[in-house]
Amino acid sequence: MSSFFDTKIDYLRGVGPQKAVLFNKELSIFTYGELIQHYPFRYEDRTQFFKIKDINEDLEHVQVVAKIRSIETIGEGNRKRLVAHIFDETGEMELTWFKGIQWVTKKLIIGVPFVFFGKPNKYGRKFSIAHPEMEPVTAVQEEKSFFQPVYPTTEKLRAKFLDSKGISKIMEGLVQVAYPQIQETMPEDILQRFSLISKKEAVKQIHFPDNPEILKRARFRLKFEEFFFVQLRLLKLKLTRTEKSKGQILNQTELLTKFYKEHLPFQLTEAQKRVVREAFADMKSGKQMNRLIQGDVGSGKTMVAFICILIAISSGAQACLMAPTEILANQHHEGLKEYAGLMGLNIALLTGSTKKSARKVIHETLLSGELHIIIGTHALLEDVVQFKNLGLAIVDEQHRFGVAQRAKLWAKNEQFIPHVLVMTATPIPRTLAMTLYGDLDISVIDEMPAGRKPIQTVHRYDKDRLKVFGFMRKQIQMGRQIYVVYPLIEESATLDLKNLMDGFESISRAFPEYPVSIVNGNMKPADKDFEMQRFVKGETKIMVATTVIEVGVNVPNASVMVVENAERFGLSQLHQLRGRVGRGADQSYCILMTKYELSKDSRVRLETMVRTNNGFEIADVDLKLRGPGDLMGTQQSGLADLLIADLSKDAPILTMARDAAQLLLQDDPDLSLPNHAMVLRQIKNQKKHAINWSRIS
Ligand code: ADP
Ligand code: MG
Repeated sequence: MSSFFDTKIDYLRGVGPQKAVLFNKELSIFTYGELIQHYPFRYEDRTQFFKIKDINEDLEHVQVVAKIRSIETIGEGNRKRLVAHIFDETGEMELTWFKGIQWVTKKLIIGVPFVFFGKPNKYGRKFSIAHPEMEPVTAVQEEKSFFQPVYPTTEKLRAKFLDSKGISKIMEGLVQVAYPQIQETMPEDILQRFSLISKKEAVKQIHFPDNPEILKRARFRLKFEEFFFVQLRLLKLKLTRTEKSKGQILNQTELLTKFYKEHLPFQLTEAQKRVVREAFADMKSGKQMNRLIQGDVGSGKTMVAFICILIAISSGAQACLMAPTEILANQHHEGLKEYAGLMGLNIALLTGSTKKSARKVIHETLLSGELHIIIGTHALLEDVVQFKNLGLAIVDEQHRFGVAQRAKLWAKNEQFIPHVLVMTATPIPRTLAMTLYGDLDISVIDEMPAGRKPIQTVHRYDKDRLKVFGFMRKQIQMGRQIYVVYPLIEESATLDLKNLMDGFESISRAFPEYPVSIVNGNMKPADKDFEMQRFVKGETKIMVATTVIEVGVNVPNASVMVVENAERFGLSQLHQLRGRVGRGADQSYCILMTKYELSKDSRVRLETMVRTNNGFEIADVDLKLRGPGDLMGTQQSGLADLLIADLSKDAPILTMARDAAQLLLQDDPDLSLPNHAMVLRQIKNQKKHAINWSRIS
């Protein structure tokens, strides 16, 4: 943007230095550019009026014309409130104020028609609006605008008359002076191809739309633009990377063939085969692989990883597999040790608790090339860990590792950056994945191994606990094992731990005949491991734990997952937890325990879990409930900064914008054509802003 948009808002009409400070602090708005991008989040159609009898609770807001019948104050001190009883020819309702009572009382005139506006809530049989906006009828009739913009604001701003209306007034002045200064940011051919209106028009119309149709086009244009530049940046990154990063050619398959012939314990699913092919194509391409494997819990990612490891070793390279927790690294090691042994390969485990002497041996044999496969935690990232020739680096459960950590892995081979496979069990919608991991290629294992019985999921209230215990007992009698999981959230860790211990005691009391394990995050790794192993061996029948078991643990005989305080878990977390059971041949169950009162969102989460086992479907609901801001990876991708586009709702626009960006880069990979100058400028501008942001926060 030109310097005009860098102008500080301090002397903008209607702002002034004092209000400017508030804008700075409350909304991080400093400049004209930032203010003009403070878009309305909705519009109120002030041309529509409701009759009182037509009001219902589903309405976000209503506007009624009504007269005041009577006014009263109820309660004392802090709880004092003002209630006005109003009526029209169809019915009666109430208005309530908890603050500013004196001031409001003066404004209310009995018997005179007012326009009232606000969110209706039902109390008993009557509707009530708390703190409505109000105006005498005449003033409203002069209102010209079709749609009134509603701006995000805060309590502190409101206190200085910067409510939505106040901001709207300032915005009117700003849009007027800014309009001639707004420059187009997208190339003409893209505007035409996707029928986009000009930037100028879009900005003006998004604030003060002439009609609903043009508003729609303005929003479309601005969303498109946002996605377009994010995609362009990611695609450009990927382009540079594939150009720059040569990959070691890993194209030998002797070990693989032998493994397939002699040791493969089951038929691969079609999805596993496809993903292996995709990864193999990368590994032998001469370009560096950066591939994400998405697959639901239990879809068999580990086997795919092992097969890729075999390809790497056949071709004379080494491989490493990094897991986010010690338990998980351990389990991978246990699982793969067997296969590696059958294939005559050397494998070792390196974690924080590996003894010094063992560590030394590992370091030496990695460097000499004697050790083929190393499994481990973050410990693998340490500088002392050096390879003879690391060809393939696999990262499990990627959301726990940052981009910076991945980069550390890359540095482990000086000649060639190792091929990187990232495995995640957090399914996300494909469009979103393309964006979040825009710099990775994506493979999806969208099929479960044959013979799996879908897990049966139920929701039970705390009062049903005895019945649940009864069910648990029956399952144990049938030879099964059971997880009971409690939430553990840092902010309430002490309480949560107490909760866990109470639960452990009540279960121990309820099942005196069975040994019960307990594992929590405060235990030493060795103790945790000891308890885990007891459970894995079947010595204990019930495992009471916090979410430490969330990731990766594999006990095929465990067929029941009881989640306590299930309302406190997010959807994807619940899905991950449920994935801990259903790994053997038996019918498995997931029991979600909650208290009786639940928020609407909690109910949706629980219903979704009961309805479906499909991770992608669950991810969709999750995205809708939480919005993309909370999703892992959004921060790094720049998507967290989206001003107007919404990843959960605007996927079609995202796809179009990605296509547009792809086309542009095909024509002009360096963006060096004169008619793309504005695009280049815009990208550079974005970078500049990104830096500013990080400095501020
Ligand atoms: P995840 O994708 O969650 O990491 P795992 O790799 O741990 O899943 O696999 C889950 C279980 O399924 C393991 O016990 C594994 O041996 C088994 N498994 C993997 N692939 C197949 C297959 N094609 N057929 C049968 N069982 C399989
Ligand atoms: Mg796994």
